[in-house]
Amino acid sequence: MILPWHESRFRQLIARRGDMPHAILIQGRKGIGKSEFAWELARSLLCEAPDASGHACGSCPACLWFDAGNHPDFRHVTLATADSLDEGNDEGAEKDKEKDATQITVDQIRNLGPFMTTTTHRQGYRVILVEPADALNTHAANALLKSLEEPPPGTVWLLVTGQPQRLPATVRSRCNAITLPLPDDANARDWLRTQGVEAPELPLALAGGAPLAALEWTADAAEGRQSFLQQLARKDATLTQLSAPFQKEIPIVALVEWLQRWCLDLIEMKLLGQVRFNLDFASAQQRLAERLDILDLLAWERLLREARRSVTHPLNPRLFAESLLAPYMALR
Ligand SMILES: [Zn+2]
Repeated sequence: MILPWHESRFRQLIARRGDMPHAILIQGRKGIGKSEFAWELARSLLCEAPDASGHACGSCPACLWFDAGNHPDFRHVTLATADSLDEGNDEGAEKDKEKDATQITVDQIRNLGPFMTTTTHRQGYRVILVEPADALNTHAANALLKSLEEPPPGTVWLLVTGQPQRLPATVRSRCNAITLPLPDDANARDWLRTQGVEAPELPLALAGGAPLAALEWTADAAEGRQSFLQQLARKDATLTQLSAPFQKEIPIVALVEWLQRWCLDLIEMKLLGQVRFNLDFASAQQRLAERLDILDLLAWERLLREARRSVTHPLNPRLFAESLLAPYMALR
């Protein structure tokens, strides 16, 4: 599915059907529809009877195979899961493997070897979709680079990433990059309404204008966030109370995101008298901002930004949560 705000980009690209670049780097913000774009592009490139606008027909043999997940000329390379790594039944090892599912490994790229060198089954393109491409580890990126340097004819690599800067420059330089845009606010709100979100303003603001990310804000996550921020806004909440939910039920990544947005809002409130993300806490933040020092806030923001980079699997989530909350408690 191509999201409406990416339709014109899709048509421009698919118009080159007969002469596709051999590697396309599809980049852009999180939650705007990059993956959807890449999948539909792959499907349309493989379709044997595309419509006038270049979209896949949905009913030719290629489309049927693609939709059933077994088109012989297509591969999807994504994070290595426990299944795709070495066998092993030991429980501890299983846990380690889950942790490992943050990377695309060199074996996953090397295993494409036979697929890359045999003739395509349908005499069309051979398409490999890699997402998130920034998860390629160093060895995997090097293996990919070799393939990008000597592309077998008819091969199209689609690399999807929200963080292109994490890819080696050597890989990026061999790709045609497309940066997919965000929709404007009105279009994003309209689309969210078509998805059943009755009041799209707040989720959209929380997601920084990214509609698919906004969809995630509509259920449990929203509830957890609201009760946490209510505590955060209170003067008498203790460190123990604030960090408690992050032991188990709420992922630590969410905490870092919530705190970052809280902090950015406080800074924006101090400088511009408005908030960008937490529209529903604007008045609480206004009261807080009056008492807080801008330099302290900027220092906390730096700490949170660094935490964001290293957040994946803290040994002790609660201690980690406390280390991020403590500076804020000291400010108030
Ligand atoms: Zn088709």
